[in-house]
Amino acid sequence: MGPCLTGTLAHCINSEIGIDVTITQEADFCIDLHCHSTASDGALPPEDLVRRASEKGVTHLALTDHDTISGLHDATMAAQTVGINLVAGTELSCLWKSHTIHIVGLDFDTSNENLNTALERQNDNRWRRARTIAEKLAKLKIDNMVEKATFKAGGDVPGRPHFARVLVEEGVVKDSAQAFKRYLGTGKAGDVKGFWPSLEEVVQWITGAGGIAVLAHPRKYKLTATKLRALTSDFRQAGGRAIEVATSGQSSGDLGFLAELCRRENLLASQGSDFHFPGAPWCELGSIMKMPEGLEPVWHYFRQPVGVPATV
Ligand code: AMP
Ligand code: FE
Ligand code: FE
Ligand code: ZN
Repeated sequence: MGPCLTGTLAHCINSEIGIDVTITQEADFCIDLHCHSTASDGALPPEDLVRRASEKGVTHLALTDHDTISGLHDATMAAQTVGINLVAGTELSCLWKSHTIHIVGLDFDTSNENLNTALERQNDNRWRRARTIAEKLAKLKIDNMVEKATFKAGGDVPGRPHFARVLVEEGVVKDSAQAFKRYLGTGKAGDVKGFWPSLEEVVQWITGAGGIAVLAHPRKYKLTATKLRALTSDFRQAGGRAIEVATSGQSSGDLGFLAELCRRENLLASQGSDFHFPGAPWCELGSIMKMPEGLEPVWHYFRQPVGVPATV
């Protein structure tokens, strides 16, 4: 872990294909394409998040709130003030063979009608899911959770982390990890999946809006290598173009495994901290493991490509 060395990657790729290019300096740019604000389950308002990213040296940031783009307006304003490049982003929840999967969308047209309609539907899905989670918790004698979690979410639709915060505050569990382990994680009362659309659908929303679909944090789904390969393959067939290779909370073994998966499936490589709140050094803005060599970065394919030397 350390400062991201994105520039080095661009240099490696281009020297590999033997093209004489100006070497991009390591310090030239630092790219973080996955983080959360108060528009979903993050702790910082979009403008504070952008400011913090800039202070941490991030030069290109995608704000990827869960199933919403409502933070992008304020983030864009702040990005102009601090002089950071903001890439349109979101992180969409979907279902693949009964697993909840997250797909990051990058660099899409934020005014795309179909995407905006889909996001409204996703917001409705989240409300219905929140009520179902609360009903299930009520059966365990934990009452009024939808009201309390909504308050924690500032009046917006609550996600599972908001439920977790209430459970901690009320002394039901000692911390958020325990809240997920006992009540909200896989196989528990809060694990309500029925409301999510299919993987194919959400990839289509992103690509239809001119964006790039990225399979988020592939190691977090706890799938076997065989299943993860099947997921990646289905994702690519649906129109997905990249996977997150460098993301927080994974070992260097995970990094190598994902790099190999990325090469085998002929996908682009993305990276992001998945920052949610300050004080967790293992997922701080811009603090991303160095990407393994020989991968094609997703940011080379942005409308305004990053780090592709002009001579190529
Ligand atoms: P939701 O989209 O409402 O289902 O919430 C998903 C979010 O919950 C993730 O993005 C994480 O921020 C958080 N989360 C998931 N699993 C855990 C866990 N085991 N411990 C703490 N936070 C978690
Ligand atoms: Fe989250
Ligand atoms: Fe996620
Ligand atoms: Zn995330």
